[in-house]
Amino acid sequence: MRAIVFDFFGTLTDPAAEAGRRDSVTATAAALGVPADRFWHAMGASFPERIVGGYGDARQTLRRVARDCGADPAESELDAAVAAQLAGSVHVRPPRPGVLDLLDRLRADGYRLGLISDCSSELYESWPETPYAPRIDAAVFSWHEGYRKPDQRLYEAVSARLGVNPADCWYVGDGGSREHAGAHRAGMRPILVTNTAYPDAAALRSDPDPYTPALAIPDLDALPTLIDS
Ligand SMILES: [Mg+2]
Repeated sequence: MRAIVFDFFGTLTDPAAEAGRRDSVTATAAALGVPADRFWHAMGASFPERIVGGYGDARQTLRRVARDCGADPAESELDAAVAAQLAGSVHVRPPRPGVLDLLDRLRADGYRLGLISDCSSELYESWPETPYAPRIDAAVFSWHEGYRKPDQRLYEAVSARLGVNPADCWYVGDGGSREHAGAHRAGMRPILVTNTAYPDAAALRSDPDPYTPALAIPDLDALPTLIDS
């Protein structure tokens, strides 16, 4: 095995930060002048299309979702909403404790590191400024590619950009979006991160995976031992 492909949210990020998602959406809704509950549901309903780029960038997305909620925000309200949305996106993606050192160690051990994330424009556009970017050799984002997991084209893209065969890749994720079924079909070896210490994060997982990997670890710190064994 020459490469490791990671999921992003709840896998490289701190699962405890998932609990902040609702507050972040509430702040954006307030800036748009839309009731928080209504905005939360509209964002959820638009998720499948938003994350493949169907709503455009953050500003275009917020305008369209606000209109879906019956509001017509002024440009100044959109300015504030985009700022709130970007701030919120930073809050939900702090690194899992120890993960940056772990990525450094895996690369030092000779692994190529990849990423597949089902995400909106905020992560794609700010990726180069994150502490993850210099540690990941190939990052593939649903918003940019126009496909979401478990679309095989995402797995093919990341292995091609890593310069390895899918069969030479581990796939490590916390199990949303049917990602492990996709990885298995692509020929990668899936590993489930169960996040046992973060039961609230597991409850927020969308579109859970019907395929359960044979290999599971409670937290990423157990990864080096598993893949070396
Ligand atoms: Mg995840």
